[in-house]
Amino acid sequence: MTLPEEYQNSAEQLEAEVEQMIREQVEEYPDNGSQRVENQFSKFLRGNSPRMERIRQKGAQLDSNHYELLDSAFREQVWPDELQKSPSWTADDDVTSDVQEWVGSVLEMEDPVWDDYSNIPMAAGLTVKQELKESLTQHQGWSLNSIDRRLRKDFPHLEPHERQRIARQETAGVLNRAKIVSLILRPDDPLVKWVGPDNDDTTELCTQLKDDVGDGVPVSVLLEKLEEYAEEYENGTPERVEQGLPHWLCRHTIEVVDQ
Ligand SMILES: [Zn+2]
Repeated sequence: MTLPEEYQNSAEQLEAEVEQMIREQVEEYPDNGSQRVENQFSKFLRGNSPRMERIRQKGAQLDSNHYELLDSAFREQVWPDELQKSPSWTADDDVTSDVQEWVGSVLEMEDPVWDDYSNIPMAAGLTVKQELKESLTQHQGWSLNSIDRRLRKDFPHLEPHERQRIARQETAGVLNRAKIVSLILRPDDPLVKWVGPDNDDTTELCTQLKDDVGDGVPVSVLLEKLEEYAEEYENGTPERVEQGLPHWLCRHTIEVVDQ
């Protein structure tokens, strides 16, 4: 079948425009485009394990809605100061089981390495991970509050504020990780910003990073910056950058810039 002439022309024009856009992007960000800088994310992407293959397949099946769902879960759960105010995130018509499965697969991909929380033995990090996985992938839904309640059962000796910090930090890590992986699997290296609450708790690291990123950079560039900043600042946590946590208790996240 051949297309009518006017369609052929507009297809050619579109192709030329896209090529031009790619050229401009590569010029503006020379480390980007087809020759991305080798960092922990690009190494991760090249991985050939069966696990990585499953992630790629799952990633390709995700609908365009899933990113917005993860993003709104992050804002609703991680940003409010009081846990009780977080609405429940349920797998109804809004939150598809695909998204829950995606979160589950991303958690599977993680090595069970967690921060050495004070008052929690290292091995107990596995319990935290298990609780998170069960919470985030159960059909009845979850909230930061319900994760906190689960942790209370496992670690009754913890102070409430310690427990809540863990629930918040690890939930932020999982949701950010799920967002990051789906974004780096996209072929177009979308423009993104670094966003989060602006208040007394906002760190110098995130203030500077937000400034640096401005109105948006390709996601591959932002991920490089996350690594750089996490290494540069004293309170940085380079070992947790893959979860989008450049420092302890970060509440910031990636936001795709509408173009
Ligand atoms: Zn931060």
